[in-house]
Amino acid sequence: MGWQFSSNVASPYFCRYTAPMQTENYDIIVIGAGHNGLTSAAYLAKAGYNVLCLERRHIVGGAVVTETDLVEGFRLDTCSSYHVVINGTPVIADLELEKFGLEYLDVDPWGFAPFPNGNYIMFYRDVDRTAESIARFSPRDAAAYRAFMRRWMRFNETMMAVFCAPPTPGGMAGAVLRHELKDGRWRSLFRESLTGPAETAAMLRTIFSPYGKVIEETFESEEVRAALSWLGAQSGPGPDEPVSGELLAMQQSLYHLLGVRRPKGGSGMLTQALARCLEHHGGTVKVNQAVRRILVENGRVSGVETVTGDRYSAPLVISNAHVQTTLLKLLPEGTLRPGLRKRVKNIKVANGFGMTVRYAMDRLPNYTVLPTRNEMGEVLAGEQHRAMQLLCPSPGYLRQTYADARAGRPPEKPAVIAMTPVVVDPTLAPPGKQVLYIWAQTHPFRLSNGEDWTDIKQREADKCLQVVEDFAPGIKEAVLGQYIKSPVDLEEIGGLVGGNLMHIDMSIGQMFMFRPLPELANYRTPVKGLYLTGASTHPGGGVSGAPGYNTAHRVLSDLARTGNEPRPGLVKAGAFGLGFGLGLLASKKYKQPPRAPETE
Ligand SMILES: Cc1cc2nc3c(=O)[nH]c(=O)nc-3n(C[C@H](O)[C@H](O)[C@H](O)COP(=O)(O)OP(=O)(O)OC[C@H]3O[C@@H](n4cnc5c(N)ncnc54)[C@H](O)[C@@H]3O)c2cc1C
Repeated sequence: MGWQFSSNVASPYFCRYTAPMQTENYDIIVIGAGHNGLTSAAYLAKAGYNVLCLERRHIVGGAVVTETDLVEGFRLDTCSSYHVVINGTPVIADLELEKFGLEYLDVDPWGFAPFPNGNYIMFYRDVDRTAESIARFSPRDAAAYRAFMRRWMRFNETMMAVFCAPPTPGGMAGAVLRHELKDGRWRSLFRESLTGPAETAAMLRTIFSPYGKVIEETFESEEVRAALSWLGAQSGPGPDEPVSGELLAMQQSLYHLLGVRRPKGGSGMLTQALARCLEHHGGTVKVNQAVRRILVENGRVSGVETVTGDRYSAPLVISNAHVQTTLLKLLPEGTLRPGLRKRVKNIKVANGFGMTVRYAMDRLPNYTVLPTRNEMGEVLAGEQHRAMQLLCPSPGYLRQTYADARAGRPPEKPAVIAMTPVVVDPTLAPPGKQVLYIWAQTHPFRLSNGEDWTDIKQREADKCLQVVEDFAPGIKEAVLGQYIKSPVDLEEIGGLVGGNLMHIDMSIGQMFMFRPLPELANYRTPVKGLYLTGASTHPGGGVSGAPGYNTAHRVLSDLARTGNEPRPGLVKAGAFGLGFGLGLLASKKYKQPPRAPETE
């Protein structure tokens, strides 16, 4: 093999690839080993295809990665940390990822929101326990939270089915029907709309409203409003964004429905397991292999060429890279018709999203509202340290961060999520030590004040740490090492155009059958054999694996339809492809290879 293991890690997916240059042939090439690219690749390899996955970085994972060489002895998630949506997809079970080393740890409570008035809210998986915590601020809000969750958990359980279906009207309607008819009975959504038109109208009104307005109308306590606004902001759009009510309702209800989890060993252990799964099924992963060009002959893809000049051929290429990278940079000039090229260029990416700072720590933060320091001066682990620590004192505070971003400047006072995951997973730090991960939002990628991110990233990271210090005095003294990723680093290191972790904006005009554009929404492109996957596609960003799952099944469905017979191992997956295309039938019911054309 041409693999050379780097000294500090044991996994082959952190290697440097040193094989000699040569042309190799594959059935399918996947550009990018983000978790969605790997998910697609693993499903297709499992179906019997010879799959190659090429990653530009020295490590697989994209934004689902844990790095061990940044601060010695510490395992740092340099992007995502908490996994929610993937818990509701079939990916983990279908690909048997536990066999490949994935072990999920529950994070419960999952949210802790302290406030300057000395009180706090604790968010548990259990809605009633959460409501009890909210009742300390307002019994009325506690009841409103229960009712809100009752309504939206039912709705979003159905939305999970839509996430794992093609984003066409037929595909989505089919997914809803299939879900609602499960177990032979009408379930939540239909029962609601048939028996409660007023309820349906109220839900539609929520969906079409800005989530800030929904929160203001539903809850009276400023603290409850602050915590929910900050949670609602996690997909990117601000509280005033039109038609964003479902972003809040969905996110909030999925935390309760699906739970919050972390892979043992770090977020990146998901992608390590996916890479192992891919190789187990005969696929190949190559790191340090940035694709420079997608090769196209007579309107069909024929393979890819890397920056080192290596060529790999395949009749089918799936790109996990950002949609604009794929279609504007990797495709040869002139391949796309000018009108489409312009539309791709105009896809809204948003001017940055946020920044991360990862710290190696001597101890945990000692929160003023819930102190755990003992007489020996040690800070003991408490529930607040298990949870994501939501540091955003008021809705007005959050609105100001969005106002700063709109003006093109970093927030004067950032809203911060602090995370101390060693409490859940001691493998992340040497004994007795901790990590502190900070995620802060609304940092513009392009600055309007002439400053450069290289010059200001330490200053901005210090501001984020100061927010934690304000809630947990003395934490700054416990820092042993740090790693900062500015919005520009997110693009340069991770390929996240404009620093957007969702690839493209998650506003309603770019969701479902509009993501990334209506004519590209079914994972296909106008170039025969070229498919898109990843956060640029339905259902968007976040750790879900759903785009990867959907693309794999779109490809399997197309292969079955065009008469490219499935190999023996493909029978089940090909059958699923048909079910996927029809949107109504579950894969396991099929025994025969697919024959029928897909339904759009
Ligand atoms: C800082 C940060 C924190 C986050 N926190 C969370 C969280 O806690 N929970 C959550 O659910 N989500 C979180 N997210 C969002 C989530 O991680 C991403 O939306 C998601 O992982 C995107 O996955 P993907 O596979 O679609 O794309 P990516 O992860 O972007 O993967 C694309 C891959 O393609 C590779 N690539 C690009 N161009 C080429 C090329 N030319 N040749 C070869 N390879 C190429 C890239 O290097 C990358 O590996 C976070 C993201 C970031 C950045």
